[in-house]
Amino acid sequence: MEIVKEREVPHLLKGLTYLDKRSVMKEADKQYLTSLQKNFDGANDFDAKVNTLVNREVIVLNDLLLCNKGLTFQIDTLMLTSHLVHVFEVKNYAGGYLRNPDGFSTILGQKIADPLLQLKRTTSFLMQLLQDWASELKVQGNLVFVNPAFTLYQARIEDPIILPSQIDSCLEALNSHSGGLERQHYQLANRLVKLHEAHAPLEKHLPYYSYEELKKGLSCKACGSFELLITQRSCFCKSCYEKSTVTDVILDNIEELQFLFPDTPLTTATVNEWCGDAVHFRRMRKVLKDHFVASGQTSGPVYGKPSHVYYESPPVRKSK
Ligand SMILES: [Zn+2]
Repeated sequence: MEIVKEREVPHLLKGLTYLDKRSVMKEADKQYLTSLQKNFDGANDFDAKVNTLVNREVIVLNDLLLCNKGLTFQIDTLMLTSHLVHVFEVKNYAGGYLRNPDGFSTILGQKIADPLLQLKRTTSFLMQLLQDWASELKVQGNLVFVNPAFTLYQARIEDPIILPSQIDSCLEALNSHSGGLERQHYQLANRLVKLHEAHAPLEKHLPYYSYEELKKGLSCKACGSFELLITQRSCFCKSCYEKSTVTDVILDNIEELQFLFPDTPLTTATVNEWCGDAVHFRRMRKVLKDHFVASGQTSGPVYGKPSHVYYESPPVRKSK
């Protein structure tokens, strides 16, 4: 098994997580964040199964965002075996659901977006794409429910559904069905990754935010709490009891600043303000000096890695 594209924390999930702890988000954005996190957790659970159970010649591509003829579609997991392209639409639903003739609903009768219809669209988009690329590989779609607390009533035997209790055997079956991979399989995998990279910026955008509105301070990476006990060397979270070094916490918080305000020049002053003046100015400067590369600037030293430049004392940019 070879993972040609790893799953990463989606840009939107990362950004909303940062905004959630530093501002009061709208209820709709909060709900969206919860669903993104749930999807991501479910996909990670499925990845863990794939990593454990798939051991034959299979190419795995995680989380692809593809665009063809003006249509964009997202694939949770794609696996290439010798004869088939397997598409897995992964759902992390919990509780009881009904498979009705006209779609899906919760056990209480609330209709939800039909995941089988979604899978059908994705597979037909992919078939079209492969046809355009003159690939003769067939596409097989699978709807996977990963949460052990999920129950589905009235599913039909012909539905391409994999229930939590069937995941292991389905993945093990992939091993027995896969023969040797050839050059065309790797070429196809690389072409899909290239198409993904070209269209990744199409991802939905974060809601509007400004520097002034966001809460300043050092926050815990594990739980987002600002209730930190900072000593000479270590940092202790009073909410989740996570312990880490002060340097690591500062670096995590600098990463947030750079993510949310990529154009902000990093200076000891800007970082100190972002971190709520939680540590002494000199200590902050030392962390920057130790982890970023210095270069010249008339008003003082400038530090930077590629894409990590920080100036010692230009005016602080407060909004984007
Ligand atoms: Zn914490």
